[in-house]
Amino acid sequence: MDLTQTRPHILRRPMPARKRKTVGIDLGTTNTVVARNFEALSIEGSGCVMPSAVAFPPSGATLVGSAARRRRAMDPKNTVLSAKRIIGARWRSSYTGQFREHYPYDLVEGPDGWAVFKTRAGLKCPVDIGGTVVSGLCELTKCPVQDVHAVVTAPVGFDRRRREATSLAVSKAKFASVRVIEEPIATALAYLNRASLKYAFVYDLGGGTFDAAVVDCSSYPFRVIGHGGDPYLGGDDVDRTIALHVADRTLARDGWDLSNDAVTFDRLVLACELAKCELSESEQAAIAIPSVDAAAPESCGIITITREEVQQLTLDLVRRTFAMCDEVLAQAGVKARDMEAIFLAGGSTRLPGLRGYIESYFGKRPRFDLDPMQVVSMGASLAAARPAVAELLDPCA
Ligand code: AMP
Repeated sequence: MDLTQTRPHILRRPMPARKRKTVGIDLGTTNTVVARNFEALSIEGSGCVMPSAVAFPPSGATLVGSAARRRRAMDPKNTVLSAKRIIGARWRSSYTGQFREHYPYDLVEGPDGWAVFKTRAGLKCPVDIGGTVVSGLCELTKCPVQDVHAVVTAPVGFDRRRREATSLAVSKAKFASVRVIEEPIATALAYLNRASLKYAFVYDLGGGTFDAAVVDCSSYPFRVIGHGGDPYLGGDDVDRTIALHVADRTLARDGWDLSNDAVTFDRLVLACELAKCELSESEQAAIAIPSVDAAAPESCGIITITREEVQQLTLDLVRRTFAMCDEVLAQAGVKARDMEAIFLAGGSTRLPGLRGYIESYFGKRPRFDLDPMQVVSMGASLAAARPAVAELLDPCA
């Protein structure tokens, strides 16, 4: 056998294709996370989750993330939070109407009929805000964008226009391409990665929204067969409820009215959020009461709150989520007991007692072994890395 004849053949073997660089992005109402190869990327010193906030202070700077969010009470009209609620929404839509009832921004009709924020840095549309959030997060996590293909998640309820706007926001960070996947599909992918069961229920309680979905995971692509929720129900409501409760106790105990002044009350809300999160680990937490005296801003008292108290305060909110789960199951034509798996997403699924209530409702222990604040981005990163991406929607280079 003449070996020299075989060599050129071996040399002509096609080179393996260069591995595509990909990321998954959860551009959330409250927080944004970017993940690569099933791992959420971390921001030095502060975990993987960045508030979806952009602020335009008088200095002319543009602040992103936690630095922006801290300004929400002192400069509300120039601190944009929750822009996702109106991304891709027309000025005359119900989304914009509802948003204006909840937030203090100067919103105006943009030249092309979209809702835009009027800030001291000029008119900013929600797509610009989303782009600034994603660019800021990529910078903080040192996530490259050049030649990187991104998949971003969007709620099931987003129509084509809102998905395109979400995709466009992410393109502003200069990724090579951006595609969209539905949020509960990303969560189901993160947990299953391959078709292995019939019905899964995704219970997603975030900072500002509740989303529930039945996902058919029996074959690719996974399909959402029922969905619903409340776009104005989440951890923010819990924080405000605890803050009002603490304000009542402080008024009765010390005679201070913390609910009178927006900045003081917002500081109390932030302190209550910290205490709420601490209650996942301990039976009780201390809340530092912000001073009502501008001349002595450091002086404050402490109020202790227990897990039991928070569980009581959130009972109504939790009941409302189950009423919506009833509707979603009915829409899909299935029963709670038909669910083979329950996947939790959203930071508020860590609320004291909630996982027990979910287990009672479905008669099955929910899965929460993946971090509920990262799971959506992790699933999106899997979808992004796949060569065949049947579950992806709306290409937008
Ligand atoms: P997400 O929208 O998924 O980013 O979730 C953000 C919400 O999760 C915020 O309202 C947080 O306060 C809430 N959250 C985060 N960690 C916890 C925790 N340990 N316990 C209760 N709520 C939490």
